[in-house]
Amino acid sequence: MDECIFCQIVNGKASARLVYQDEQATVFHDRHPVAPIHLLVVPNRHIDSVNALDETSTPLAGHLLLVAQRVAAQMGLAASGYRIIINTGPDSGQTVFHLHLHLIGGRRMRFLVGD
Ligand code: 5GP
Ligand code: ZN
Repeated sequence: MDECIFCQIVNGKASARLVYQDEQATVFHDRHPVAPIHLLVVPNRHIDSVNALDETSTPLAGHLLLVAQRVAAQMGLAASGYRIIINTGPDSGQTVFHLHLHLIGGRRMRFLVGD
């Protein structure tokens, strides 16, 4: 997936403000943050979206969630709270087709969804 921007960030071929990386996952700042903290948690391996997950993805999906929890704690969000969003497909507004968890915090969020 040479043309995928998130694959390029994972592989160091495109720049991003990296926060965390391990063998399976990478976390970096969203370039258009919607809150004081807005990070993207992505699998290092290219996966289009939640629609492409299957039984074999279970450990990876769990790992991504745990990474989000740990990074949220490192960012001081454990007590104040945070939101994890995974857009999937056109109605959700997904624009980058490399699976990613938005980790958003640092301000109070009142609405479940926005347009
Ligand atoms: P989506 O709408 O697909 O769930 O979210 C994609 C997110 O990726 C957007 O919030 C957008 O700002 C972010 N994004 C897109 N391209 C880049 C990039 O090249 N670098 C970074 N850091 N974020 C990006
Ligand atoms: Zn990719």
